[in-house]
Amino acid sequence: MSLVMISHPSCGFHEVGDDHPESPNRLHAINDQLIASRLDAIIDKQQATQATKEQLYLAHDKAYVDSVFASVPEQGIVELAPDTQLGPRSLEAALYAAGANVMAVDLVMQGKAQQAFCAVRPPGHHAEYAKAMGFCFFNNIAVAAHYAMAQYGLERIAVIDFDVHHGNGTENIFFDDERVLFCSSFESPFFPYNMGPGNEHILNLPMPAGTYGDEFMQAIGDKWLPKIDAFAPQLILISAGFDSHYEDDMGHFNLVETDFHWLSAELKKLAVKHCDNKIVATLEGGYALNALGRSVIAHIKGIME
Ligand SMILES: [Zn+2]
Repeated sequence: MSLVMISHPSCGFHEVGDDHPESPNRLHAINDQLIASRLDAIIDKQQATQATKEQLYLAHDKAYVDSVFASVPEQGIVELAPDTQLGPRSLEAALYAAGANVMAVDLVMQGKAQQAFCAVRPPGHHAEYAKAMGFCFFNNIAVAAHYAMAQYGLERIAVIDFDVHHGNGTENIFFDDERVLFCSSFESPFFPYNMGPGNEHILNLPMPAGTYGDEFMQAIGDKWLPKIDAFAPQLILISAGFDSHYEDDMGHFNLVETDFHWLSAELKKLAVKHCDNKIVATLEGGYALNALGRSVIAHIKGIME
C-alpha cells in the first residue's frame, strides 16, 4: 500500500487567460517531474469524482455555493473576486478538485491507500465560508476535513498549510471548531493581509520576506511539531503550497526542495505515531513551473518514505 495521486483532466480546463499564473501548465509540470523521477511507476493514480453540493455545504454557506453554481458563464469570464475568475469550465474543475479531496479521505480512511496527494486546481485555501478569494472558489482541504468528521466521526484533525500565503479561508472556516488544529506558515506582511488573531487551535506562523529554510525549520520545530504531537491527530491534512520556493516570484521566501522534504517527513513521523500513517495532501499554490514540479516530488517522497 502506498500513495495514491488523484486528479482529473477537467482540472486542466479551468482557464482564465493566457497570462494568469494559476494555469493548467502547473499540472503538466507536476506530471513531467513525476515521470522524470520515476515515481509514476510506484504510485497509484486515480481519477477524481466530482464533489456534491451537499459535500460543499459541509464547509461553505449554502447560499454562497449556490451563487457560484449560478455564476458560471456560457462564454467569457466572470470575476467573483479580484483575480478570481470563473470561465465556462471552471466550476467543473472546482468540483473535481474538491471531489478529489473527498475521494482521498475515503481511500485513506478505508485503508485502501496510506497517503493521498490531490494534484488539482483551482486551489482552495483562500476560499472562506461564504467568499471566493485569491484564485480559490471552494476550500478543498476544508471540505476534506469536514467530510472526514461527518463521514468517519473524526474528532481531531491537523491541517498543515505551508503555502507562502496565509490560509485565511481555512482559518475562517475552522475558527470556532476545536476538532481542527490549523497550522499556517506564511510571509507577512503580504497577501491576503487578513491574518486572523489565531487562537489555541489556530497556529499562525508569520515570517518575514527573505526567510530561509533553516529559519523555517527552526520555527516549525519549535512552534508546531510539539503541538501537533500533543494534539494526537486522527488524520493529517496538508495544504501543500509551493510558492514559498525561492524560484517562485509570487512570494519572497527562500525555501528549496529539501525544506519541503524535511517538513513532509516530519509530518509523516507524526502520522505514523498517531494515525496509522494517514495523510491527505492537496495542491495549493506554486507557480514557478520547474520548481513546482521538483518540489511536489520532494514532498511526496517525504510523506511516502
Ligand atoms: Zn499561495
